[in-house]
Amino acid sequence: MSETLELDGLTFKVRRSARRRTLGLTVDRGGQLVLHAPEATEQGALAQWAAQRLLWVHRTLARKDQNRPRQSEPEYVAGETFRYLGKPYPLILVAEQDKPLLFDGCRFLLHRPRRAMAEQAFRRWYIDAGKAWVPERIERLLPRVGRAPSKIVVRDLGFRWGSCGPTGTINLNWRALQLPTQLIDYLLIHELCHLIEAKHNPAFWQAVERALPAWRDRMQELDTQATSVFWCQIKTGNTSCTSDHCRRDKDHCVRP
Ligand SMILES: [Zn+2]
Repeated sequence: MSETLELDGLTFKVRRSARRRTLGLTVDRGGQLVLHAPEATEQGALAQWAAQRLLWVHRTLARKDQNRPRQSEPEYVAGETFRYLGKPYPLILVAEQDKPLLFDGCRFLLHRPRRAMAEQAFRRWYIDAGKAWVPERIERLLPRVGRAPSKIVVRDLGFRWGSCGPTGTINLNWRALQLPTQLIDYLLIHELCHLIEAKHNPAFWQAVERALPAWRDRMQELDTQATSVFWCQIKTGNTSCTSDHCRRDKDHCVRP
């Protein structure tokens, strides 16, 4: 049976590792609290450490509750709207068409016989559109931050909006392309600032503030808009990085 710790009415799952030197705390998408600890940490020390972080835990849980991604998935029916850079475009089902999905600037055109693969087709479409749009956008934002990424990738990042890899790669979740440009700007600036400072510490937020003084408003709006983004078949239970302590894949989450 796995080890747990009860505190303030909350249950923390305890994960011990011989390789770990410091204590860490994460909240996975399903709201499960996970305490990461070095092998020999005593339960008392663990409880004391976690108790000092209860305010953060409650705040994070509350925010996760508000930000739960939209439960309804697209149905890929005629007239349904799909957003690109914040603007809604209707879906049309067409009988004949070479590609499974096309965008004519006003509408998305889905090849009706291939409706079963619509989800893949949209994902592909957003990734391709992002490959063209995101590097150009980053180019415009660069003077504000003063650091350039080594590589820009638009891909699936589960529940994270973006990440900045240790080699200076900036990754953006394809789902973010549904957001208005000013919110994507916040996500990109956030990741660009991780090229200056990897952690979400005061130096990091100062860099964000310099590049985008309205970042707080954008972050708040992002929380609101996140609920209307189609997430398309993500299985819940994915662990997403929510704190500086998490270094699972040496990337950083986009949220503080
Ligand atoms: Zn971050």
